[in-house]
Amino acid sequence: MEYDIVIGLEVHIELSTEKKLFCGCKNEFTHEPNKNVCPVCLGLPGSLPVINQQAIEYFIKLSKALDCQISLSSKFDRKHYFYPDMPKNYQISQYDLPLATKGGLFLPNLNKYVYLRRIHLEEDTGKSIHIGGDNLREAKYTLLNYNRAGVPLVEIVTEPVIYSVDEAAEFLELLRLTALYLNVSDVKMEEGSLRCDANISLKPKNSDKLGTKVEIKNINSFRFLIRALNYEIERQSNILKSGKGVIQETRGWDEKTQTTYSMRTKEEAHDYRYFPEPDLLPLNLNQDYIDSIKIPKTPSHYYQEYLAFNLNNDEIMFLLENPKINDLFNVIISSNLEPRSIVKFLKTDFAYLYNNNQINWERIQINNIIEYIKLAESKNIDILNSKRYLISILHEEIDILEFFKDKGLFIQEDTSLIEKVVDEIISKNSQAVDDYLQGKDKALGFLVGQAMKELKGKAKPNTVSELMINKLRAFIKS
Ligand code: ADP
Ligand code: ZN
Ligand code: MG
Repeated sequence: MEYDIVIGLEVHIELSTEKKLFCGCKNEFTHEPNKNVCPVCLGLPGSLPVINQQAIEYFIKLSKALDCQISLSSKFDRKHYFYPDMPKNYQISQYDLPLATKGGLFLPNLNKYVYLRRIHLEEDTGKSIHIGGDNLREAKYTLLNYNRAGVPLVEIVTEPVIYSVDEAAEFLELLRLTALYLNVSDVKMEEGSLRCDANISLKPKNSDKLGTKVEIKNINSFRFLIRALNYEIERQSNILKSGKGVIQETRGWDEKTQTTYSMRTKEEAHDYRYFPEPDLLPLNLNQDYIDSIKIPKTPSHYYQEYLAFNLNNDEIMFLLENPKINDLFNVIISSNLEPRSIVKFLKTDFAYLYNNNQINWERIQINNIIEYIKLAESKNIDILNSKRYLISILHEEIDILEFFKDKGLFIQEDTSLIEKVVDEIISKNSQAVDDYLQGKDKALGFLVGQAMKELKGKAKPNTVSELMINKLRAFIKS
């Protein structure tokens, strides 16, 4: 690549407050159109907005988790534009005095800090559903649903300091998890409670001047973000290579054609005719109030802790992306088990049942899990067969040692049988034996595996492996 990639993200997160930002309507995701509306969120003349304190509280939590500077005095502004899903013809947003500035998010896996420029609070718009066409212009008619109008929305704007598609995806994922762990949003991209616009430009390698950026909208999933950015990198580098210049504009991502298309040339701030919202007082907060709002451990904190446990990125992200399993891990960790053994169990056998909805969290037996992992690690049990009883082990108050004895799950080694099977396997697999004798260690694993299969839980892998090696060595001597 002859160019440096520069990306800045603008992320919108809908807060999961009980009510909307400026009225008493319920804030819920529902399939019944226009169920939660009133004169305020419909923008009827004469109605007046009143700020929702819970939204401020959630906003402060998010700002704290992102190390932002929370402003003691900020204000709301009207941002004007016309679109039918916004009946007032302006959106109440924040312009020059946002509720928080600076801060950032550390991406531990990439060892990178993504700086934020600002984060502010605004109202969401309603939703247009175009019938008979993809947009307002092409549609035969358009339906309007104002359930979402006035839902509290946080806009988080990064500095242009993201230098690859991986960094962008990882930032968005960690931000999503942060909001989830703070319990301030359900952050579902498919329902629109997490949305992301991506600004991207290219510049000659190591040049200190930023290139012309393009803003990409309509990104509805992580997959789309990655595809849209890759497409745009390709498109812009072709333009630059041909000696032309990139046009500053807003482009949309079209999933059907897997391309971006031009929507409009970028509007400037003055096009919005921002001015202070006259129906709301400036927002003055006192420091004691800000200090009184506490936040729980964030995914970034967990991440650092888990690195100290020697867990790798896959293991850590598995825990973080499954908050209930993460909680369970944090309970089990107080036993003396190796963190990695716990994760291994949670990520495989446990996750399998969890994904099939077979975990009843109310009845979960922590002690059984601990004992089970210990037994599995000891290699004294027939692990394949014991998995068949895992649902009972996880949910029933049983004496686990008794249970394993009862079901005959402890391995009772029969030395003469093991020897017989090992001899058989060696004589049947001359190719693998030759391979091993020529130094291919993999062949040993294969031979032991074959023997274990034959022995069906009547031997420990170590016993079989030791015996196998001894027998094979005898070949070398003879
Ligand atoms: P605009 O005035 O067009 O909205 P801003 O300066 O407010 O632009 O920045 C909007 C977003 O675009 C921010 O996330 C910022 O980091 C990003 N950005 C700004 N300039 C560039 C650039 N040259 N390349 C990539 N991203 C950029
Ligand atoms: Zn309302
Ligand atoms: Mg801007």
